[in-house]
Amino acid sequence: MCSQLGCERGQGLGVTRNCRILVRTARREPTERRSQMAMTVPFSGGCACGAIRYECSARPIVSSNCHCRDCQRASGSAFGPFLTVSADALRLTRGEPRFYRKVSDGGNPMLRGFCPDCGSPLLIQEPHRSKIVSIHAASLDDPSWYKPTMDIFTASAQPWDVMNPKLEKFARMPPIPESFGR
Ligand SMILES: [Zn+2]
Ligand SMILES: [Zn+2]
Repeated sequence: MCSQLGCERGQGLGVTRNCRILVRTARREPTERRSQMAMTVPFSGGCACGAIRYECSARPIVSSNCHCRDCQRASGSAFGPFLTVSADALRLTRGEPRFYRKVSDGGNPMLRGFCPDCGSPLLIQEPHRSKIVSIHAASLDDPSWYKPTMDIFTASAQPWDVMNPKLEKFARMPPIPESFGR
């Protein structure tokens, strides 16, 4: 068995020349990834099956990783990564999400939009903040440029959640500007 990290080819063969090439490629990858992280406006995205597509004509207002229990359930993971954009800038270009309504951990009604065909989570609308919409970052066509600036609802984060210590932390919801709508 090849002992090199990142080797998938060398099992039972020892470290081959191909293994070393793979290892070098794996080590170089983070730098290459960083260089891909440039956003362009408009940006687009959609669900896994392609039934629902959207386009956004403005840059995100805020980007946050939400660790509340609702986002854990909706994402099936440790947190929901979101870009919050102006509602005016977001346009559906194909299909209609289905909305699941519930009261959020923050105590306000919230509509979670997902694809009724493949189940992919897509966006969150909050009736009391009608001027903004939050988009699930993984639904972007190029999610590599997503740059979260804060972790929110960290009070409900799971013990197996790994957070970036450099991001600002809020135990629950951070203060929301009144301009987001009431
Ligand atoms: Zn779908
Ligand atoms: Zn959340």
